[in-house]
Amino acid sequence: MEAVPQAVDPQRVAQRGSAVMGLVDEIFPLVEGFYVDLHRNPELSHQEHRTARAVAEWLSRAGFEVATGIGGTGVVGVLRNGDGPTVLLRGDMDALPVEERTGLPYASTARGVDGDGNEVPIMHACGHDLHTACLVGTADLLAGAREQWSGTLMIVAQPAEETVDGAAGMLRDGVYERFGRPDVALAQHVGPQPAGMIGHRAGVILGAGTTLQVRIHGTGGHASRPHTAVDPVVIAANIVNRLQTIVSREVDPGEMAVVTVGVLRAGTKANIIPDEAYLEVNTRALNERVGRQLQTAVERIVRAEAAASGAPREPEITLAQQAGVTDNDPAETAALAAAHRAYFGDAYVVDFPEPFSGSEDFGEFGLPGDDDPVPYVFWFLGGTPHDVWAAAPGETPYEKLGTLPSNHSPFFAPDREPTLRAGLAALTIGALTYLARPEDTASGVPQLPSAFGMDGAGPAEPPAAEPYPQPPAEPAGVSGEDGAGSTRQADMAALLADDEPAPAAPERAGRHAGGDLLDPPPAPRGPVHGTETGPSQPFGRTDPPSGPAFSAPAPQGAPISAPPPPPGAVPYRPESDRDLGADEPPQGAPISAPPPPPGAVPGRTSRRRVLRSRRRLRRRGPCPTSPRPTATPVRTNRRTASSSAPGPPLRPGRRWRRSGAAAARAGCEVRRRRRRTREGVPVRWPRRVPRGVSGVGRGPRPPS
Ligand SMILES: [Zn+2]
Ligand SMILES: [Zn+2]
Repeated sequence: MEAVPQAVDPQRVAQRGSAVMGLVDEIFPLVEGFYVDLHRNPELSHQEHRTARAVAEWLSRAGFEVATGIGGTGVVGVLRNGDGPTVLLRGDMDALPVEERTGLPYASTARGVDGDGNEVPIMHACGHDLHTACLVGTADLLAGAREQWSGTLMIVAQPAEETVDGAAGMLRDGVYERFGRPDVALAQHVGPQPAGMIGHRAGVILGAGTTLQVRIHGTGGHASRPHTAVDPVVIAANIVNRLQTIVSREVDPGEMAVVTVGVLRAGTKANIIPDEAYLEVNTRALNERVGRQLQTAVERIVRAEAAASGAPREPEITLAQQAGVTDNDPAETAALAAAHRAYFGDAYVVDFPEPFSGSEDFGEFGLPGDDDPVPYVFWFLGGTPHDVWAAAPGETPYEKLGTLPSNHSPFFAPDREPTLRAGLAALTIGALTYLARPEDTASGVPQLPSAFGMDGAGPAEPPAAEPYPQPPAEPAGVSGEDGAGSTRQADMAALLADDEPAPAAPERAGRHAGGDLLDPPPAPRGPVHGTETGPSQPFGRTDPPSGPAFSAPAPQGAPISAPPPPPGAVPYRPESDRDLGADEPPQGAPISAPPPPPGAVPGRTSRRRVLRSRRRLRRRGPCPTSPRPTATPVRTNRRTASSSAPGPPLRPGRRWRRSGAAAARAGCEVRRRRRRTREGVPVRWPRRVPRGVSGVGRGPRPPS
């Protein structure tokens, strides 16, 4: 087996990560707008055309070689940046047939037609919109900071995760043959853990799952003459009951196993005995052996019940979906978790003691069963607002998880800003764990403050408590008068504005490899047993982490993200968000944002910050132009749809935020001016520098 690339020292990764994440404020409004746009415009599995186009366009503009239509609607972007390993970052793009009830201003009202021809509501109820936004954002960040890393970055936007056949489709379409085989593959999934929390597990983190379609044949007849019929409804009912005994009577009590009948259809009218019934049976297990046992038992019971009732024909049983276990490489998981801890701090990285019963097809990218499998790491990213987490009933985290809106719930709504920021950082750190230039004191890599126990000479033990220095408090007027700043106070009107056309087809620049959009081509959740990970914190506490949020030490100057709350800070109040834009119509399909309202007062930007931005942009090379983003968003995880009472109107004159295309346009203009500056053309610095989210990195709030 090919040697896995040596992971870079975690402290070095955190340093490089800080340097790369120093660019995040430039693109965060775009990423946020992109996320909101995807959330408002979800697409079912195998139908992710619009999403794929937007991803391709973003990657193209960021300088990636892009190919579309891989395995349906899959998109691959490759950025070669010198010698080094190839790291695959994967995000999934598809949504679910769920009617959204979050009450968010950007809630989806989309409807579509599923694979069976039924009209269904569509919602990003599994958070794949967040995965996609973090994926393109990370790609952009790394493309903008190429001096910080070396190797090949392979971005994979995968279709059809919910039907667990998207990854296999891309592989069948030759993704590795066409773009090279990665040395390691990485992916993340948002879950109901506290926002910003990263959850790792070495070994099995997600179970195996199958879906069996079952058609029972009976003999139809008049409801008043059952003795002349073979009633498939009764057979189906017996099957449903009997299937419950598989887990309770057949599977070893020490094993995790689930059998669920999610679909049961029969009949058209009360006075008719139908001639067939249809069921879909879903099974979950944490190892292949139990998975096979469940499948065999289901088939045996279905056939036996049909026979017991004298069915005229054998039932038809079809294996519709099958996903193997997601089995993280232990060594790579330990390396990655160490880097995440070095960057985020121990409080934000946990080890799950048990796997979750959900399933994913990301493991397909590891080529299970191959002689030379690709090691992979899959981790969870928390999305539940901390106040919601703190208020959730339950003594243990697992009890709380059982009561919070989770993936696939119509109320599932990740806390937008902290989750996006943590997701961007987690993916970036993940890539840099293998791609970061390990040599020390490279230009642009800030030295960590001594509080880190580092003086540039080498890694040191991270301090036990308070691992990150407190960034300087933001000057008043930069963070906004309310102190909440950032996206929580974002102008939803701007975020949701529809004044720009939907994402254009990617402009085909000469260097873009690759095909055309064709059509598209499979999902995860929860924990199991056994801990194989390193020394980090177990997922065992009740309170969300407090203190410094996600992100590493600021390289210098202004904080990069999530400064810890100042002492005495007022805990984050979700109500203020609910008020935002509650009356905004959620429809429309913008991928971009409106110009700032007349009279808008841009936030002040310090001279130092401007200079820092200039340096960054110079490093980024020729302006690939900011990707055109989408509208922007509000926060999430409303507990109920009814909580979105209209609130006081926003005051756009005080704090407006660019989003979507407006931010892209502004960013491009700034870059153009910077280029002219470089070329010696005197240019007056624009007053409005895209500052990104001015609040810069408000991480998860501490619990009240
Ligand atoms: Zn899902
Ligand atoms: Zn999912």
